[in-house]
Amino acid sequence: MNILSFDIEEWYFEKFLYGDRKEMYPVYMGYLDRILDMLDREGDKATFFCVGEMAKHFPDVIRKIDTRGHEIGCHSNTHTWLNKLTEEQMYADTRDSLASIEDAIGRKVISYRAPAFSIGESNKYAFEVLAECGIECDASVYPASRDFGGFSSFGAKEPCIIKIGNKSIKEFPICLTTAFGRGFAYSGGGYFRLLPLWFVKKVLSSADYGMCYFHIEDLMYRKYKMHDREFFENYYKIPGTFKNRFVRMIKGSIGTKGAFNEMEQLVSSFEFVNLEKADQLINWNETKVIDLKGNI
Ligand SMILES: [Zn+2]
Repeated sequence: MNILSFDIEEWYFEKFLYGDRKEMYPVYMGYLDRILDMLDREGDKATFFCVGEMAKHFPDVIRKIDTRGHEIGCHSNTHTWLNKLTEEQMYADTRDSLASIEDAIGRKVISYRAPAFSIGESNKYAFEVLAECGIECDASVYPASRDFGGFSSFGAKEPCIIKIGNKSIKEFPICLTTAFGRGFAYSGGGYFRLLPLWFVKKVLSSADYGMCYFHIEDLMYRKYKMHDREFFENYYKIPGTFKNRFVRMIKGSIGTKGAFNEMEQLVSSFEFVNLEKADQLINWNETKVIDLKGNI
């Protein structure tokens, strides 16, 4: 089973962090239209995880995706990493986001992805918060270590049920492959851009479970441009040294030239479903149960 997902946030970043360059909005919309047309052509439905503040300020973008028949999920309210928020702040963030998205589409939202997969050992309570807010399916776990966290002790690499407190939630982790004894993602984001397409196809075709995830920014051709120190420190919450900003620039820009075409080739080479459909197809009585109770 292969799941296709997109994280929609560029309009929000543009308005509140990148300087509200008006000329960029039609550019983002152009990419979104190309994605929606591709999905129509392939007959695929995807899950689009949307930032709540986007739904508030750009409801037409969210409605457009919704009316084309795709699932709308939640991608937090302001794209603040969950491990930077207290439990109470995360609760407010999730509740505000769901209110804005549900208001835009007139429908309940039950799927969630954390910004930058920011649920790990230190904030496992996040699953309980999500379940309390009505989220049934989550796709936030990166079950290995990575630059900004990850959840290496999670204990499952395929869809499973998380039990925490008296709540439970269905988890769809990011799928990984292994090299040099270390697990890493290959089917989305910067990893997809860095790896050759033949490699991604090979790993995906031999796996029982795949979770592909893209941002419009992953698929846009971008010239190498370094963030200024203020933006960098504000967003990444680490010192904006030349080295840190340089590394981020390389990671954020490399491989963007052919990325959209490669994503299209990948989508046309495999069968994909969205989270909503995957939830129906999985026999949850047979999946692993991860009990996080007692560890928090
Ligand atoms: Zn995101």
